[in-house]
Amino acid sequence: MTAPLTDAERRELTAALRARRKTLRAEIAAKLEVQDNPALMGLRNRMEETDDWAVADLETALDIAEISRDAGELRDVDAALARLTGDGYGECTECGGPIPYARLVANPSAARCIACQERAEAAQRRGPPATL
Ligand SMILES: [Zn+2]
Repeated sequence: MTAPLTDAERRELTAALRARRKTLRAEIAAKLEVQDNPALMGLRNRMEETDDWAVADLETALDIAEISRDAGELRDVDAALARLTGDGYGECTECGGPIPYARLVANPSAARCIACQERAEAAQRRGPPATL
């Protein structure tokens, strides 16, 4: 099954994904640099020694949550780039149907068509299915 994308469209989406990857990598690197901040390290060491888990620890955890969200998006972008170089880009990973070009422009790392994405998000909100 071939993706219904022209070469020009694929090139455009590849460029968008590469730019996004660059931005995400820079953001993650910048946030990791904050994590290496000596003051923060000292604070963390103190918390480990004294069991004094204060608000600062929560803030560190929030930073980490942000990094892991960025890392998750970076993984999606990398996966989309891998699909672009091979086959299957622009096809829904759930139902195999084509993902509209407009959706790909808005979100080049989209792996699902809108219907499947909405179903996946609804399932995520509900939590894992009780029976499967
Ligand atoms: Zn689908």
